[in-house]
Amino acid sequence: MLDFLMGLSEEDATFLSRIAIGFVVCLGAVIGSFLNVCIYRIPLGQSVSRPRSHCFSCGKTIPWYHNIPVLTWFILRGKCSNCRAPISFRYPVIEALTAILFLLVFQMWGNPALLGLNPLSIPELIPIFWLFVASTVVNVMIDIDHRILLDRISIGGTLLIFAVSAAFPILHGATGWFSGLLAAFGGALFGFALGFAIAFLGERIFLQDAFGFGDVKWMMLFGALFGWVGLLWIMLLASFLGLVMGSGVLIYNRLKGLSDERAVAIPFGPALGLSALLWLFWGQALLTAFISLRSWVLMHEQGVLFCFVPLLCLMSAWLIFRIRMIRKYNREWMASEAEEGKPSAQVVHESEEEGGTSHV
Ligand SMILES: [Zn+2]
Repeated sequence: MLDFLMGLSEEDATFLSRIAIGFVVCLGAVIGSFLNVCIYRIPLGQSVSRPRSHCFSCGKTIPWYHNIPVLTWFILRGKCSNCRAPISFRYPVIEALTAILFLLVFQMWGNPALLGLNPLSIPELIPIFWLFVASTVVNVMIDIDHRILLDRISIGGTLLIFAVSAAFPILHGATGWFSGLLAAFGGALFGFALGFAIAFLGERIFLQDAFGFGDVKWMMLFGALFGWVGLLWIMLLASFLGLVMGSGVLIYNRLKGLSDERAVAIPFGPALGLSALLWLFWGQALLTAFISLRSWVLMHEQGVLFCFVPLLCLMSAWLIFRIRMIRKYNREWMASEAEEGKPSAQVVHESEEEGGTSHV
């Protein structure tokens, strides 16, 4: 595909590569700006294209020159130019994050070929992974805000990956279209089955669906894209990250004195999405680190045992404490539902029959 680059001098290749990097960063930031709109509007059932971006406080449409990703927020010092209402710091963060992720994808699958460093680069896969990182950002943020993982990403994405795997079997290291499709299909099936098993066990342990069906469908997509081995590594990473992130959020909420449902039930989506991104970019490095860690452990067996066993005990104790706390919370929650739930449900039902005019 990039045959025309073969005749370039080293200087020209570097120059071209720099221009491409600049372009990719700008593209990522603009897409990130669009993702902000998606994250806000999709869960509310609003169109992502109309109306144009406007201030949530005064409703004024944002002019194009105030809609430059990342920069605008800093130029306007995080305030609306019309009514001075504060604009969340999350907007520029998402834009910058998307730009970085787009650049990482480009550096991995495109730029080495541009620089003549890696003839095995596959520029055809860049748009696919751009789509993947963008959808991951959207899913993670919507899960944090609303506890939803979007079906159009999980299911739609999986179907798209099937098509892509047939068109570019190299995605799975395969040669023919059928073996590519088979690899994606097998991975998806494995992801769905594993997710389903975890959800089933989770319900038994936590007395409530701690690991939602949305997570199961997203695991199906990861299986289709990364295969079953990749999925296992992602799950290993996600359970570790989930424990660390969940504990962090829990301690933070405790310190702030929050104790409602949002403070106790922490979504798993962010840990899952972050793990998939880590695997995408640093999977190879992770495997190498794991292998060298293994040989290091074998060399320093007693010292590792001395540090590792207490750490493992501490982590297990914390995990048991977490499970007990969530169980206790869910039991109380179910009890309060049983007390209040039924009569209020009846009232809602009646008001609907009357035409939904009364306010309950
Ligand atoms: Zn405003």
